[in-house]
Amino acid sequence: MTIVIMKFGGSCLVNKKAFNKILKITKIYENAKKVFVVSAFHGITDLLLKMAQNLEFSKEVDKNMALIEKKHIDIIENIFEEDSLHYIKAKDWVDNKLSELEEAFSDIREFGLEPYYQDYVLSFGEILSTYILNEYLQSKGLDSEFIPSNKIIITNDEFNNAYPLYELTNKRIKNLVIPLLENPKKDTIICITGFIGRNKIGYITTLGRGGTDYTATIVARSLYDMGKDKDIKIILWKDVDGLLAINPKYVPEATLIKNINYIEAKQIANFGAKVLHPKCLEAIEKKKIPLEIRNFDKPLEKNNFTRISDRTDKEQIKGISAVELATIITVISGSMVDVPGVLAKIFKIMAKNKISVSFVAQSSAEVSTSFLIKEEDSEKGINALKSILSEFYELSWKKVAVINITGQKVLENKTKAQIFTALDKKKIIVKALSQSFEELNLSIIIDKENLIEAINIIHDELIGYEPGS
Ligand code: ASP
Ligand code: MG
Repeated sequence: MTIVIMKFGGSCLVNKKAFNKILKITKIYENAKKVFVVSAFHGITDLLLKMAQNLEFSKEVDKNMALIEKKHIDIIENIFEEDSLHYIKAKDWVDNKLSELEEAFSDIREFGLEPYYQDYVLSFGEILSTYILNEYLQSKGLDSEFIPSNKIIITNDEFNNAYPLYELTNKRIKNLVIPLLENPKKDTIICITGFIGRNKIGYITTLGRGGTDYTATIVARSLYDMGKDKDIKIILWKDVDGLLAINPKYVPEATLIKNINYIEAKQIANFGAKVLHPKCLEAIEKKKIPLEIRNFDKPLEKNNFTRISDRTDKEQIKGISAVELATIITVISGSMVDVPGVLAKIFKIMAKNKISVSFVAQSSAEVSTSFLIKEEDSEKGINALKSILSEFYELSWKKVAVINITGQKVLENKTKAQIFTALDKKKIIVKALSQSFEELNLSIIIDKENLIEAINIIHDELIGYEPGS
């Protein structure tokens, strides 16, 4: 039997209609075993963080506490019959959890906002929402079990951005989830909180903002490793149809990507496709677990959604994205030729200043090296370089824009010829470019003022407009 792991984000949990839709989805996937991975209600994580960071403003904290309570109680009153068992259980849960949250706040006032406390506070969002969804499913006569993910996802100690320890997680999944899932007598839906885990000592950790997608993939991977059934897929229910080839801000009628492979998808996620958490793919790629991104408003959709698997439409460019605010720094010197360690020196000083380098280009003549940093880091980066480079080096910098073109097709000469010919017709000059060995992404640097025109030219040339998509 297929196992489907579905992620429901905050936008799938806004009112009675939305909860009804989840119920409809459980019917559509009637013949599959179902695991639901659930985010906090919309905006709750942000609120919790704001409160934890500003506890000295107690009036503000009280106001936000009341707001969090109201947001949950409103939904409870909306989706349950008044005074029914599930209504009472859900309300009590909210009451109890919010008292625990108050206690955490008084600890933080006393001891300061240690990273541990921050994760603990943020975990309340998912603990509240998932419990409510679980009660809702039960109130509709479904068999469903609530599992807080700090019982099953064991992580390292990196609070705020924890990484799962798969071997330990697998054991927990084997003991706590698989028996429920493989019980032939019962069709139990498992409701797991997204976003949170625990370290070995037992402290709650979180997987990084937007981490619920990641939870879904971690659970899928562990089920794959530990369960009998290898027929597993993940569905992330979103408020869009799937991944688009380009941000509609640049090209309003952007094409939907239907089939994309893991390597391409990883590139796209790294370039900020907000629909997909970059860490997700790492968990499922090796096991070849397919992941679908689907529109929550169109659960019956047959064609228009994105499927990430080892299959791809080779002919399709998968993404054209832009970095609008970047600075390119160039270090030039005759003495760089054949001198070992110059690049190491440059990148070490960047790392020391916590500046991330996103692009590097050096011709094999070695006299000049260009690299890219965020525009906001440019002053810091340039000053740091000035402090270590001797008079034999020349340093220059410029604010630029970057266009990234991603897909299997980028490996073909023809694709590059198309890009450059099209840009040349409009006299847009490519100032620097980079593609590492067999990488499915080409990055080109252009003047900032050319960005919108250039990205449209490249889009029209490589993708064009596909009616009906
Ligand atoms: N609630 C968490 C956040 O907002 C996790 C998630 O929504 O995926 O970051
Ligand atoms: Mg969220």
